[in-house]
Parts: sequence; C-alpha cells; structure tokens
Amino acid sequence: MNEDIPELPNHEQSTLDAAFTSLSGSVSRSASELDQEAFRLHWLGRKQGRLKLISEAWLKSAPPEAKKALGIRFNQLKQQIEAVLETPTSAPKAPAEQGIDITLPGTLRAPGIPHPLLKTMHEIVQVFHHLGYSTNLGPQVESDFYNFEALNFPPNHPARDTPDTLVIAAQQTRPSRDRLLMRTHTSPVQIRTMIAQAPPIRIVIPGKVHRNDAADATHSPIFHQVEGLCVDTNITFSDLKGTLDHAMKALFGSDVKTRFFPSFFPFTEPSADVQISCIFCGGKGCRKCKHSGWIELLGCGMVDPAVFAAVTAERRKTDPSDDVYNPEKITGFAFGMGVERIAMVQHGISDIGHFYSGDMRFLEQFA
Ligand SMILES: [Zn+2]
Repeated sequence: MNEDIPELPNHEQSTLDAAFTSLSGSVSRSASELDQEAFRLHWLGRKQGRLKLISEAWLKSAPPEAKKALGIRFNQLKQQIEAVLETPTSAPKAPAEQGIDITLPGTLRAPGIPHPLLKTMHEIVQVFHHLGYSTNLGPQVESDFYNFEALNFPPNHPARDTPDTLVIAAQQTRPSRDRLLMRTHTSPVQIRTMIAQAPPIRIVIPGKVHRNDAADATHSPIFHQVEGLCVDTNITFSDLKGTLDHAMKALFGSDVKTRFFPSFFPFTEPSADVQISCIFCGGKGCRKCKHSGWIELLGCGMVDPAVFAAVTAERRKTDPSDDVYNPEKITGFAFGMGVERIAMVQHGISDIGHFYSGDMRFLEQFA
C-alpha cells in the first residue's frame, strides 16, 4: 500500500469535507484488508504512517486560517483509526497469549480398532463371501412366527418359554404367531430371505441374538451368531461337510480336522454338531479340550422339509401357484456358529465376559 499523498487543491470547507470523506473511506477499506498490526503500521507507523505524512503535508501548505479546520478533521480521522485498533479481531491469538504452554506433551488420541468380536465376525463372513455367499441382516425384535413357528418349533417347545426367551411385554392378546420377542438366533433371517427370494440362495447372516441366560464364563444374555443357508438343486450333506471343513481350515489353519456328530435341531434333518481337532494340543488332549482332543464349535444340518413347507405357505399368500421351495425339487443346508465361541477358541480366551468388560488392557491386545 504505497500510495502517494493525495493533493488538496484548496482549503474550502467542501473540498476539506470531500478529502476527509475519501480518507475515512480508505481507513475503513484498509481495516478490512489488513490485519491489525499491518493496519496500525500503515496509518500510525512512526516513519511511514500515512496519518503523519498526510497531516504534515497538508498542514505545511495550509494558510494559517485553515489549520484549525484541518486539525479538527485529522483528530477525527485519528479517532477512527484508533477505534479500529481497539476493536477485538477474530484472528486467533498466538498460543502463548491464550495461556497455552506449547512445550507440554499433546493429548494422545489412540486410533480406534475393531472390537475382537466384530473382527472375528468379519473374518467368518469373509470366508463365506469368498465362496460366493452374500450377507443378509434382519431385525433383533422378531415375531414368534419367524423365530419359532416357521422353523418347525412345535407350539409347546421349551425354547419358547420365558426361562429361555426374552419376550416383549403385553403381547398375550395377540395371536401366537405375531407375539414379539428378542430373537434367540439369527435363523429368522433364513425364513425372511426365502419368503422374499426364490432359490438358489447362498447367504450368511451375522448378528446379535438374545437369550434369558445368566452370565457366566461361557454364557451371556446377548451374544453373536453367524448363520449360513444354502438352497439349490442337488445340495447334499457332503456339500455341507465340504463347506464347513473348508471354513474351519480357513479360520483355524489348514491342519485342523473336522468331524460331525448326529444332533437335533427342529429346523434341520438330519442335524449334526461339528467338532474341530483341538488347536491347542493338536488332538493329543489338553485342559482346553477336556482331554478329548476335539472342540465342539457349531451346529448344522439339512434344511427340514417342514421349513420349506412353512416358507411355501407364506409365499402362496401372494402367489397361490408358488412351488419354488418344493422339497422334491430343491434341498439345502444350514449352519450356525457362535462368534464368541469361535473368538474364544481363536485367541485362547477362557471367560466370555472379557469381550463385554470394556477393559482396555484386554482390548488393546487385538490392536
Ligand atoms: Zn486340546
């Protein structure tokens, strides 16, 4: 801002008014263009300050009778400049002016990490994504129909009782199939998927489930499952065995062996429990496998035709001729595993409570 000193052609009142109006305008302009210190130097600097330069030039050339009028106006201009300098600026002050000691160590914000349970859940889901499965999700508050009825639980099955299932209050007046509860497994999403979609189906269903269980070293009222469903033509039990054997090797290492034991679930027939060879002792027997050499990990089976029948009955409400889930034409398998259980075996954790404790010493080990 190296401006020349403006000319003052004469000393008539109107000329002075115009000249000072113009000066006042350039004070306002520079107040918005310059920071406070540059503004101060520009107008009030000891050697090059414009106020001094202009007032010296104009007063020197002024006739004695005009000096008073000039002096008054220069005083007003100076007041305007000082008012600008007294206005607090919004520019941030230097840290030292704010009372901040910049030599102190800063606040360390640790980057977040996925919770070990979510990490394991993601790993399981990934194994099946690589086999061409997609992910489906469903609500945690379910109706009796999706959680039990369609999955072939008979009306008086003990799982429906409140000692096992957390039910939503004040549902007694509703028809049994519409009563709401906290889902006890992720299986209702199998039913929801099949009602919405014709075969072939290959899905995994990760999610939170709820049971009326007291917390102990291996139980928690809320836990996580990953469930899988495959429905297509010519799906056999050996497809189920091959799929789960692959999944267990992908999760626990290629040395792991699997074996299947007959079991029972209302929604699969035949049903099986799957065990893997103990990853801690390699099958020799240790405390973790109760000296058996095997660890029980998940349940599975071939989809019960009664489940397909329930799905077909629902689908026929919109299309009476629907027959895509005819068990004469298609078969399927399903499996379900507890994420906590898998994570406990993966990491050798003995108490499920660690996962929910929020104890940083525990969680930081998974960073
Ligand atoms: Zn063992």
